[in-house]
Amino acid sequence: MMTTDNTIALDLDSVLADVMQIWLEEYNNMFQKNFTKNDISDWHIYNVLPITKEEISSLFIRVWKNRWQDIPPTSNDIADVTDHLISQGFRVSIITKRERVTVPFVSYWLDLYKVSFNDLIFIFDDVSKNRFPFFLLVDDSPINAKEIISPKRIVIFDQPWNRSLVSYDRIYKLNQLLGLL
Ligand SMILES: [Mg+2]
Repeated sequence: MMTTDNTIALDLDSVLADVMQIWLEEYNNMFQKNFTKNDISDWHIYNVLPITKEEISSLFIRVWKNRWQDIPPTSNDIADVTDHLISQGFRVSIITKRERVTVPFVSYWLDLYKVSFNDLIFIFDDVSKNRFPFFLLVDDSPINAKEIISPKRIVIFDQPWNRSLVSYDRIYKLNQLLGLL
C-alpha cells in the first residue's frame, strides 16, 4: 500500500499532556506515598503500584475532570511545534484513547495550551490506532507502538514505561520530531 497521506498523528496523554505528573500527585496524596514518574517503569501501572485497573482508570478520569488545568504540557513549546508542522503543510491529527467523560476537558486543555490541530479523534474502545489515517504516529504506549504496521511509522515519545522498546525512533521532546521528518 502506498501512503501519500501527509497526516502526523499525535497521542495526547504523555506525549502532549504530561498527565502522569498530576496523576501521581493525586495518587501520592491519597496513599501518603512519594512516587515519581521514573518509578513507573511498566506501562501497566498495576504491575508497579498496588492499585487495580479500575482504580487507575478512575484516577485518570478524576485528574482530567478536576485538575485538567494543572496538567502541564510535556514541554513549553508544544504549540510552536504543532503550528510549525501545519505551516510546513502537514495535517496534525490528535488521536487519543480515553474514557468518554473526559472528552470536554481534553478540548479545554488543548485550548488552554493553544495546541493547533486539524482533527481530534477520540477512541472509546480497543480498536487499533493503526486503522486511522496518518503516515507517522508519535505515541508513548508500547502497545500502540506494536500495532503500527509499515509503511506507517511510529516514533516513541520517551517515558519511563516504554524504555524496553529499543528498535524504534525515540524522541524526548516533541520538537525533536522535526528532525525526523
Ligand atoms: Mg499516551
